Amino acid sequence: MSTINALQLAKELIKFPSVTPIDAGVMKFLEKKLKKLGFKTKLIEFKEKNFKPVKNLYARLGNKGPNFCYAGHLDVVPPGNLKDWTVNPFKPSIKKGHLIGRGANDMKSSIAAFVSAVSIFLNKNHKFNGSISLLITGDEEGDAVNGTRKVVDYLKKRKEKINFCLIGEPTNPNKLGEMMKIGRRGSLTGKLIINGIQGHVAYPQRANNPSTTIVKILNELKNIKFDKGTKDFQPTNLEITKINIDNTADNVIPGLANASFNIRFNNKHSSKSIKNKINKIIKKISNKNKSKYKIEYSVSGEAFLTKPNSTTYMIQDIIKKVTKIKPKLSTTGGTSDARFIRKIAPCLEFGLVGKTMHKVDEAVSLSDLKKLTLIYSNILKNYFK
Ligand SMILES: [Zn+2]
Repeated sequence: MSTINALQLAKELIKFPSVTPIDAGVMKFLEKKLKKLGFKTKLIEFKEKNFKPVKNLYARLGNKGPNFCYAGHLDVVPPGNLKDWTVNPFKPSIKKGHLIGRGANDMKSSIAAFVSAVSIFLNKNHKFNGSISLLITGDEEGDAVNGTRKVVDYLKKRKEKINFCLIGEPTNPNKLGEMMKIGRRGSLTGKLIINGIQGHVAYPQRANNPSTTIVKILNELKNIKFDKGTKDFQPTNLEITKINIDNTADNVIPGLANASFNIRFNNKHSSKSIKNKINKIIKKISNKNKSKYKIEYSVSGEAFLTKPNSTTYMIQDIIKKVTKIKPKLSTTGGTSDARFIRKIAPCLEFGLVGKTMHKVDEAVSLSDLKKLTLIYSNILKNYFK
């Protein structure tokens, strides 16, 4: 069997303008490639009211355990102003040792590297003990409603066992080999509305200024000392992201004030424990100021950590051998689809260098792409040894 070339496949994937939630045929294309390698595939489209339907792909080779899964996404962010690009974002081009195009590092090239790695692995290990699977979504960059979250529920219902999941998101800040992710912080957003009583600014006794209340609340929220951080996590942090007091006159006390804040929290907390803490403060200050309030929360993920084990160290060693850099085991950065997958399998993330992700002229170095393919194929070799 001939092997699949990672660069060739990356180019082919980039040609599909699969801006979330449009898949532009890229899922079917990858499905065909995987079928040729012997995978059993399932193209799953999820729908939900008020959201566009999205296609996802689950493919598995083999029916024995352990099941090693690779997860990623084929959707990309919009290219933005085409005039700012030096090339057409969906006509992959090679310049100065880099492949340029939308999705070149977030994360079509990583998927190409893994599929190529599978073909290399199968060439020498036609009969291996276990299964390889891919969980590919088309809804990572968008609302993430019809993506990995639902695929995980789908797999759970079908009692599909995944023993380990490698997520191929770009994890390295500057150089390939610098960083693996072994967990992620949780993220909680709060939207606060304070109702006061509008009135003449010269007669404050007849009004109730919601700005006074909201400023006091936000000040106390910002000053909460959640924790000092842990060995694996940065300290929990709250940032106020919006303060809005609509008022067109300078002689009127406004009737309404609202604000938003976001908290990135480590595994010393849950979204529930944080909400409790914040609710107490809001209630205390609102009552004291005789203001009415409303608070709404949305949780995009809980904090989690995959405790480093022999697989973690095996992968760390392989990365070090190929890149000559020992990767840090990190939990920094935003959320990823690991927040869903960790509910059914231990997760670890390693991919390309994220420096140009979501930017114009998004690029991947050709030598990184080769190295990542080698890393992925060595991971498979060692995992199934
Ligand atoms: Zn991504």
